[in-house]
Amino acid sequence: MQPQDRALYPGSFDPVTNGHLDIIRRAARVFDGLCVAVFTHPSKRPLFSVEERLGMLQAAVQDIPGVRVAAGTGLVVEYAQAIGARAVVRGVRGTVGLDEEVPTALMNRRLSEAVDTVFFLAAPDWLGLSSSLVKELAGYRASLAGLVPPGVEAMLIAKLNQL
Ligand code: ADP
Repeated sequence: MQPQDRALYPGSFDPVTNGHLDIIRRAARVFDGLCVAVFTHPSKRPLFSVEERLGMLQAAVQDIPGVRVAAGTGLVVEYAQAIGARAVVRGVRGTVGLDEEVPTALMNRRLSEAVDTVFFLAAPDWLGLSSSLVKELAGYRASLAGLVPPGVEAMLIAKLNQL
């Protein structure tokens, strides 16, 4: 039986990286049920469709107990409440990363004090890793070995070859 969602990890995951996966594993140890939800920011133009990002995430989390993957809609706090989650998980890459996350966390708190944002500090290996950097590297056909879950590199190359 799927455990109840205790926490929501929202993001673009365009594409999922080993940095995201590390946060997912660690958050799943702290919260009994974790929903990883793909959101599309109105201001961002993603490389991958929501379905493609869901597929990559699903493959990456299949062995992690208590984790499910979903397509998020609307406001993150409202979505969190709708699925019964009391915590929104975000990963922070050092103090600069925290500065970037604070306005959203404060706004979410204004919208609902019933949902708390919980920050997980990026592991040293993944501090400098981002989806944008991975896409930039892939653009030069540089190896992504050790940076993304299996299958993601091939999907990136296939997608970039289509452009
Ligand atoms: P968003 O566009 O919502 O920031 P991302 O997919 O870029 O979506 O990131 C989702 C969350 O994962 C954010 O909280 C981000 O800070 C965090 N994150 C991204 N890359 C890493 C990483 N290498 N290590 C830890 N956390 C990360």
